[in-house]
Amino acid sequence: MRIEIVTIFPAFFTGIFDHGIVRRAQAEGKVAISIHDLRNFAHDRHRTVDDRPFGGGEGMVLKPEPLAEALASLGILPKPDRLPEQAASNTQIVLLSAQGRPFTQPLARQLASLDRLVLLCGRYEGIDERINDLYGDLELSIGDYVLSGGELPAAVVADAVIRLLPGVLGNQASSEFESFGAPDHAIDTDVDGVPRSQHGSGGLLDYPHYTRPADFAGLRVPEVLVNGDHLQIRRWRRQEQLRKTLRNRPDLLASAVLSEEDRQLLDSLRAETPKRRNFDP
Ligand code: SAM
Repeated sequence: MRIEIVTIFPAFFTGIFDHGIVRRAQAEGKVAISIHDLRNFAHDRHRTVDDRPFGGGEGMVLKPEPLAEALASLGILPKPDRLPEQAASNTQIVLLSAQGRPFTQPLARQLASLDRLVLLCGRYEGIDERINDLYGDLELSIGDYVLSGGELPAAVVADAVIRLLPGVLGNQASSEFESFGAPDHAIDTDVDGVPRSQHGSGGLLDYPHYTRPADFAGLRVPEVLVNGDHLQIRRWRRQEQLRKTLRNRPDLLASAVLSEEDRQLLDSLRAETPKRRNFDP
């Protein structure tokens, strides 16, 4: 896959993709990331890329011409000028925007199936809307808050997509078992004859994880995790996935893939008196 990022702050990305899984994915040729400086496509002495908004109001807007030139330099035509084979190509032009569709794991999975992803980073009040009309395939928001630029969102999208590319995650960190992962019925029930101690998340949050020491600050790891009974561990983890999701993201339950046993567990969790936590209202 190729990921291309257009930004007025190319130095922002120095080092950001040089770590862990993303660095390895590049080294192994699974993804190539390139950063393009929008100011290279401005032609005045000051390399101006922004201007005042029509209609008045606060702030500045990224001008359309440098963005159109930057896209042309990447071989990307406006949508009406694309030949049918280009229109059907496996490329998406994505605008990072607080007004975009929420970026989710299913969307990350869809983007991971592309050959090429072009990410346009806004700044100031945003990008002239005609760039969206002419070139944009998708507007993406990484959350309901406003950041000062599209660079962090572009890095977030790139990271989430890269780790889903085939062969990028090792077996032990399979994306099926983490938050928002695949439903249980889509996953093998045992590993080399040993029952799996993990549960496909089916759109729920992940369960809590623990490592050594078994005692820390007076807290002992849940006993079930050290007794070696894979089926019991699996059942406990499912219960804790449901508990976390109920506590932190009850909205996910409506679309989660739940079994009859899950529903019964949920009913008993709902009946428990919830423990108060620091930020609970
Ligand atoms: N005027 C815009 C609004 O109210 O929606 C906010 C512009 S913001 C200060 C500047 C740039 O940051 C945006 O063009 C976008 O590229 C990026 N940005 C800010 N928040 C974002 C978010 N939640 N998701 C994705 N991009 C965001």
